[in-house]
Amino acid sequence: MSEIHRVMYNLIVGMQQWQKSSFKDIPKQFLDGFQQFIYLCAKFDVEPPLDIPSLIQRLQLPASEWGIPEIEQLFPSEGRLLDLDIGLSLEADEFLEVYAHPNEYEQAAMKDILVYCRDQSLDKEYCKIRTFLSMPKHAVIAYQDLYFFLVEIGDEALIDKIKKCYEEISDLSRYRKCPHCGWTLEWINGNWRCNKENVCHVRADFHMPEEFPKSNMRYFRMTRGIHRYTLLPGISEHNIAERLSNKGYSVQMYPEIDNFDILVKCNGQTLALDVKDFYNPFYLAQYICQKRFEQDWNEDVWYVIPSYRLEIFPAYIQQVKIYIRDKINENIRFLSEGELYKKVGALLV
Ligand SMILES: [Zn+2]
Repeated sequence: MSEIHRVMYNLIVGMQQWQKSSFKDIPKQFLDGFQQFIYLCAKFDVEPPLDIPSLIQRLQLPASEWGIPEIEQLFPSEGRLLDLDIGLSLEADEFLEVYAHPNEYEQAAMKDILVYCRDQSLDKEYCKIRTFLSMPKHAVIAYQDLYFFLVEIGDEALIDKIKKCYEEISDLSRYRKCPHCGWTLEWINGNWRCNKENVCHVRADFHMPEEFPKSNMRYFRMTRGIHRYTLLPGISEHNIAERLSNKGYSVQMYPEIDNFDILVKCNGQTLALDVKDFYNPFYLAQYICQKRFEQDWNEDVWYVIPSYRLEIFPAYIQQVKIYIRDKINENIRFLSEGELYKKVGALLV
């Protein structure tokens, strides 16, 4: 881990812990990050923040204004670490998603499941769990339904890891059901919002979202991290697979644990698709550049960007390509979801 990586990591995870404790005692990890940040400022001859409030002010500025030149290797230059409305920014969340190892921070439950299934060769179980966590009907779930699934999985260690993907929710009546993903909408500043990015808002009508059923049962919802990085992309993956299947192609989900998402087959020819749904194209580029040097790198994979990402940010794919060209200068294959449907027949080899 480089010096800058460690500073960012300590500040983000430290802030996560601090938010969780409703800003009681400042966690040691955040203080470590603060000291390391001061050290970096000295190294690059930048005026350091003198106390925690000035550090917090600095972290609300775009990273390019922190005065630390190498930061842009790891964090998008226009990104901020903290956001007044949502706390840790979407970029900070993606930082952990891309760089952190599964045992390093608690939100990485899905990565932990992936590593365990790969080590134990549990391909079928992995596919089952990922499919389960890709369904809107499982975003908020009664305890007994979750329990039936855990019994079906059977493996004790895996059961513990799946439990970490959920948290108990006591007051369901203050939430509404997201019409896109089934998760808990919260009423914030006069609008219903789905998690931090609220991306479901562009995909469904939030006008009169439905209430959750009133009942005395215990209910659980997916954690924020699982909602954002497993459920939302999972919905796109399954939609894409379904559309291809309706076009007459045979599709297989999560065929090699996590090497790619969908294997399309027709007349003995195949096509490997990996659906990627990062908010910031910077992190998709970082993800691919890291993956490029891993053992299971598969140069035949096509990276597919869901349509709604391109509606929000039309130059998304061009931007990823620019970042990749600057870093590794290799030709990586990208497709928008729309192009995929048009060209799928010609792409099979
Ligand atoms: Zn949603």
